[in-house]
Amino acid sequence: MNVLITGGAGFIGNNLVRHLIREGNHRVFNVDALTYAGSASSLNDLKFNPDYQFTQTDVCDPERLEQVFRSFQPDWVMHLAAESHVDRSIDSPERFVKTNIVGTFNLLQIARDYFDSLTGTKRDRFRFLHLSTDEVYGTLGASGKFSEQSRYEPHSPYSATKASSDHLARAWHDTYGLPVLVTNCSNTYGPFQFPEKLIPLVILKALSDEKIPVYGKGQNIRDWIYVEDVCQALHTVIRAGEVGETYNIGGNNEQRNIDIVRLICALLDKSKPKAHDVSYTEQIEFVSDRPGHDFRYAIDADKIMTLLGWRPQENLNSGILKTIAWYLQNADWTARALKGNYNLERLGSPDARSQDQNNN
Ligand code: NAD
Repeated sequence: MNVLITGGAGFIGNNLVRHLIREGNHRVFNVDALTYAGSASSLNDLKFNPDYQFTQTDVCDPERLEQVFRSFQPDWVMHLAAESHVDRSIDSPERFVKTNIVGTFNLLQIARDYFDSLTGTKRDRFRFLHLSTDEVYGTLGASGKFSEQSRYEPHSPYSATKASSDHLARAWHDTYGLPVLVTNCSNTYGPFQFPEKLIPLVILKALSDEKIPVYGKGQNIRDWIYVEDVCQALHTVIRAGEVGETYNIGGNNEQRNIDIVRLICALLDKSKPKAHDVSYTEQIEFVSDRPGHDFRYAIDADKIMTLLGWRPQENLNSGILKTIAWYLQNADWTARALKGNYNLERLGSPDARSQDQNNN
């Protein structure tokens, strides 16, 4: 299979590239603009692998995308490239509209022309998988879960642009017959996540003896899933999912933000104890809430489990332990990720903290 992945230098992307190559029988072409969130060095181990190619390309550049389709002749397209951080979308929504909406439109148009040129088995097996988020469904009260039938009700600029791109992807299936599948996934965590998202942010703040900022009183609830489980789910959907369908992906791990933060602190207390038995929880600091902060997300992943047989393998404790171990062993990756155009002050300085940190 020739697999074109957009956003393959980002968090889920680089884990997915590695997952597919490890599984065998996949040649991967990674198209990534290398924004602050992307790092080609995350895939250094594949630099000389003949099954891996990379181009630094913006999904808003149709000419270059056309060349890639022509030369690589993908069987599958997995579209991950996006601006993905809610806080940044509140600060600067333009880039989100451009990448998430216009970029998706470009890719769909080029994939459609390419698909129309295919014949025989190459045409039969072509698939376009569009990745999206549970945030498009808006917010839940104390009970209930999002299913594939839940109504779209995005609140942040990020989720609104992702919702738009989902509608475009489905319209290209319904109108032009492009073999599109859509996944809506809950909060993902694991190795190689840029340290502005909640879990790596807490780990790094804790280890550097800084305040650990938590929005409001930390009561907002998210459903957490380990990145390797997400890669497995995406692979399952593109291989076995029904064209035109949507699959929700979730880990069935609902947690209040404050409980996730306390769990990380407790695990660090054991694996990297501070002097004089002081707990990392002492560093927690509550800060003003994010505007429009959705209260609760929870995913009903029954469809993908029942119809496609996928199951998450990692539980929250084991997944967080693996993630902590990875950040402890890869301080050089974090240092590189935080260089470049990323302003360290955004990670919870007193001025920025009320607007600029934590969960997805
Ligand atoms: P990320 O921010 O870590 O990575 C995004 C990647 O896209 C980066 O490598 C970046 O360089 C690249 N990119 C950004 N703009 C681009 C452009 N214009 N052209 C080409 N490349 C560009 O994001 P992630 O967490 O890996 O998320 C991947 C996808 O999964 C996104 O579509 C996101 O909306 C979706 N998603 C993520 C989560 C999560 O919790 N991380 C949950 C549900 C859905």
